[in-house]
Amino acid sequence: MRDLSNDIGLLAINTATVKQWPLEKLIEACYERGIRAITPWRHDIERAGLAAARSWFNDAGITVTGYCRGGFFTYANEAGRVASDEDNIRALEEATELGAKGMALVVGGLPEGSKDLGGAHEQVAEGIARLLERAKSLKTPILIEPLHPMVAANRACVNTLKHALDLCDRIDPDVSGYLGVAADVYHLWWDPELKAQIKRGGKDRLLAFHVCDWLVPTRDMLNDRGMMGDGIIDIRRIRGWVEDTGYDGLCEVEIFSDANWWTKDGGDVLDACIARHQTVV
Ligand code: ZN
Repeated sequence: MRDLSNDIGLLAINTATVKQWPLEKLIEACYERGIRAITPWRHDIERAGLAAARSWFNDAGITVTGYCRGGFFTYANEAGRVASDEDNIRALEEATELGAKGMALVVGGLPEGSKDLGGAHEQVAEGIARLLERAKSLKTPILIEPLHPMVAANRACVNTLKHALDLCDRIDPDVSGYLGVAADVYHLWWDPELKAQIKRGGKDRLLAFHVCDWLVPTRDMLNDRGMMGDGIIDIRRIRGWVEDTGYDGLCEVEIFSDANWWTKDGGDVLDACIARHQTVV
């Protein structure tokens, strides 16, 4: 297992973690601290302009780890399907222009008014299959991110690593390298099959590792994530399982926290991320 106690090079920051700052300021502050990897959201890039954002990243020597995000493949009608496909292709083209290592997929929940979970699963599988063709031609991988089941209805109906890996195997049996998963401890920690599924996914499918913590109590389903070490997830144990596969990628900090971390100075948040990366992750 890698020793992170002195290693800031393996830390990546998801821009949502420091939502109180615009992208340019975050890039500058990361650069000053020796952080060399950032995952931006689409709205950050839209606000900054793609060309400007790309040059900020390049000038600072910062890797664009991932791109948040594509997905929302489920639809109530044909117009919805077309809109989803078009939006996903646009997002993937943006990710490619930024030189992102991959684009995360939040796959979507039940279509409005629907109770057909099986149908939603099928729409997701077909949507990913269509997008994978574009991912291959653009040479930018797409990563299914299974989310905690509490958001199955409204955000993502793929909720376990097993389901995500089953989709990978079905859609991309030859393991092209352009379809994998993002394993986020916040969404997956509770799963008794987690260790076995991490092993099954292996280096070829595990393309990203996200960290934060699960607070008890959790006061908000979306925006009450904890800083690593403040909750009950055994992050280091899970990282060990991930690295046992040969995973040599980054640990990306992704914290949504409207009552706590988003109220603090962005520099203090980054310093806490670094300290916990080195002592808790
Ligand atoms: Zn994540």
